[in-house]
Amino acid sequence: MDSLFDAADGGEGREKRLEDLAAQVSVCTRCDLAMTRTNTVFASGDPYSPLMLVGEGPGENEDATGLPFVGRAGKLLDDILAAVDLTRDQVYLTNTVKCRAAVQEGGRMKNRPPRTTETRACNPYLQGQMEAVKPEIVLCLGGPAAKTLINKDFKITKDRGKWYDLDNGARAMATFHPAYVLRQRGDDLDNTKRLVWKDIQNVYAEYQKAMEERE
Ligand code: SF4
Repeated sequence: MDSLFDAADGGEGREKRLEDLAAQVSVCTRCDLAMTRTNTVFASGDPYSPLMLVGEGPGENEDATGLPFVGRAGKLLDDILAAVDLTRDQVYLTNTVKCRAAVQEGGRMKNRPPRTTETRACNPYLQGQMEAVKPEIVLCLGGPAAKTLINKDFKITKDRGKWYDLDNGARAMATFHPAYVLRQRGDDLDNTKRLVWKDIQNVYAEYQKAMEERE
């Protein structure tokens, strides 16, 4: 793929660039996930936000609605953002792959992690979103997003909560994916939540700085 922005170059706004990119995604057949998706899931939120959140990929609910982070994990993400007085409309929210990865099991389709080949095939769209939105801060939700954007050897339990400089000048951090948090029980649940809440506070401090610099 040469340029994702062929149709939108020439100084047009980022909404137009993102619209063109979303249109390309909606008919994309670059990987096999195209064969089983119901809807592509491009992004939601504010393309002018300094903060971009990147998850792994759409699950069953997202595939059905075409929106990122709906269902229980989405509700938890809203709670995490609300802990620092943010809403999902104030951030730009997307995923590493734009189509649901699923496997047939017991007569129904179950979510599965995207394969490396699928993430790689979809990466030009994520990079296109980064180019258009130009986030100053990127929060990776879960290991797969951190492996894609920060470092292929990223270990979420060891490397989360720290800042990393991306090639495009943005600062990135990773925290646990809300779906992972929801799978924890007892003390593990409390500990995981505490770490996520700590991470979002650090991210919010950077967000505030970025907002102040814009004033
Ligand atoms: Fe295209 Fe990405 Fe969907 Fe694969 S996951 S078909 S690369 S939009």
